[in-house]
Amino acid sequence: MKTVSVFIITLLVTTLSFVASAQQPTVSKNEARAYEKGTRNYDGTPGANYWQNSSDYFIQATVDVKNKVLSGREQIVYSNNSPDSLKTIVIRLYQDVFKNGVNRNSIVPVDPADIHDGVRIASLKVNNESMDVSESSQQVVRDGTLMYVILPKKLAPHNKTELQIEWSFDFPQHTLIRMGTIDSTSMFVGQWYPQIAVYDDVNRWDTRSYNGLAEFYNDFCNFEVDITVPDQFMVWATGDPQNLKDVLQTPVYSRYTKACTSDEIHHVITEEDILNKKITTQNHTWKYKASNVSDFAFGVSDHYLWDVTSVVVDKNSDRRTVVGTAYNKEAVNFDQVVQIARETVRSLSEEMPGIPYPFPYLTVYAGDFGMEYPMITNVGPDADFGMTVYANSHEITHAYFPFLVGTNETVCGWMDEGLTVFIPENSQHNIAPELNIGAYNTSAFSHYAGIQDEVALITPTHYLDPGIYFYLNYAKGEQALRMLEMELGPELFKTCLLTFIERWKYKHPTALDFFNTFSDVSKRDLNWYWMAWYYQVGGIPDLAIESVTKTGNRYVVIVENKGQLPLPVALTFYANDNVVGTSTEAAGKWQKNTKQIELIFDTKEPVSKITLGSETIPDAHPEDNEYLMK
Ligand SMILES: [Zn+2]
Repeated sequence: MKTVSVFIITLLVTTLSFVASAQQPTVSKNEARAYEKGTRNYDGTPGANYWQNSSDYFIQATVDVKNKVLSGREQIVYSNNSPDSLKTIVIRLYQDVFKNGVNRNSIVPVDPADIHDGVRIASLKVNNESMDVSESSQQVVRDGTLMYVILPKKLAPHNKTELQIEWSFDFPQHTLIRMGTIDSTSMFVGQWYPQIAVYDDVNRWDTRSYNGLAEFYNDFCNFEVDITVPDQFMVWATGDPQNLKDVLQTPVYSRYTKACTSDEIHHVITEEDILNKKITTQNHTWKYKASNVSDFAFGVSDHYLWDVTSVVVDKNSDRRTVVGTAYNKEAVNFDQVVQIARETVRSLSEEMPGIPYPFPYLTVYAGDFGMEYPMITNVGPDADFGMTVYANSHEITHAYFPFLVGTNETVCGWMDEGLTVFIPENSQHNIAPELNIGAYNTSAFSHYAGIQDEVALITPTHYLDPGIYFYLNYAKGEQALRMLEMELGPELFKTCLLTFIERWKYKHPTALDFFNTFSDVSKRDLNWYWMAWYYQVGGIPDLAIESVTKTGNRYVVIVENKGQLPLPVALTFYANDNVVGTSTEAAGKWQKNTKQIELIFDTKEPVSKITLGSETIPDAHPEDNEYLMK
């Protein structure tokens, strides 16, 4: 009997180890097809046949601030670069998230007062042919927040089609899901215009209805947007301002142009300007242009201050980014945000990731929430200076993910959010050392890991419960990267990250492209790592000192993994409160399903205490991380 059970146990252990090392990220049917068609490669590079579609948007929008109505005329020239003939064009009407009866899973509850009958489509033409937009239409079908336009004639591969849409909607006044009414005369406008959904090489049309949870997944497009506002109103937006000289009074305009080439902070609009109403001219239409960006957003106000500076982001070409903040004078800490933003842009450009900030403009609009759009962010004021730094540098860092590298936030929220929590940690530490950012992010993960109903990090973001959304994408997403950086070492990790950015900038990578690039560049089989951190359901970080034996000058420490995650081991040896040495082991040591590992430390010093871990290695139960020698 005994022999048999030992055999079974041995067999089980062997099988477990085998399964663990043989497991690898799942390749879906659609991904397999992409590899087969050569649009993507197994090494994580875009394939020779990679393609993506794009649109040119020409929008004339009018903001009725008094009645909180936004309306527009929009022309879209859509380029089908795919090898497929398209029968249908899928258009997103984000503001239908407020439509009566639409499914919502919003990160903030929707105020019933904001519920309406949906975006009003007054007319829609395809190549100048009018389409029926009535409720019973067979040509234009609304479903969730999507609008399907059945084309009169198929759009052939490598051809373009032109759509013209007249639309309007009631602007939300009580609910702030990324955009909304900030005060009676300040509005932040995002996810607003009818936008063509992504048709890509992996999943074809993205037909996920926007439910208020996951942010977006957009093509890289060109925009020319005219925004008409009431008298005395300013507009800050994505892109290159085309006619500031015509819409701003001369003194304001000249202060602005000085700031654009200056390292100093210029108060372009002051309290005095606002009191004297000496800011804008009688031209109320603001023109913006942006090329190869994945979205367009703007903010308006008639009483916001405007601080502007600029910073060299590329020392080779002396290219500058103009950095500004638009804010209510009551917005606490916002007088310091332009400096925070400037330093963040500099640090991102020079240090981590060390790629020149990819846009010529950045405006931080003091709104509510914390949300990124290309070249403009919506961040609410915070009385805590550290949190002001944290929130602003986070939203600014999104310039790289998803705005330079076009990740799909509705599926892999962990990619852009995890990277965007991780990347600015050094600059956050430099600006606000009191945040102790590494320990702060680590303790957040240690605290929440293993929460009820946790699902795997790889779970498509649109399936998530709002409560799990933040924990997974931000806290666990960041820790998975930080532990990977410890595993590979900072230099190799950065090489992998920079290669990923270089391969996928202005393109749409998947999770597999991310994993495969890191494995390819590091020349290491990292499947065990992806399985443990990204594919495992839950998992608690918990290492413990199991035992210590001393023989002569040798200390043998057995460290046990009581949790489910492979973590680096860091032991510190003390003699009377003085550190006499350390001993470390990489997380890779756990990959063969080992539960215990042995570390050896030799010293002549009389060791009194041994500690395990550090403030930047997560541990849900730090109480078993200290051993006192008898
Ligand atoms: Zn974010």
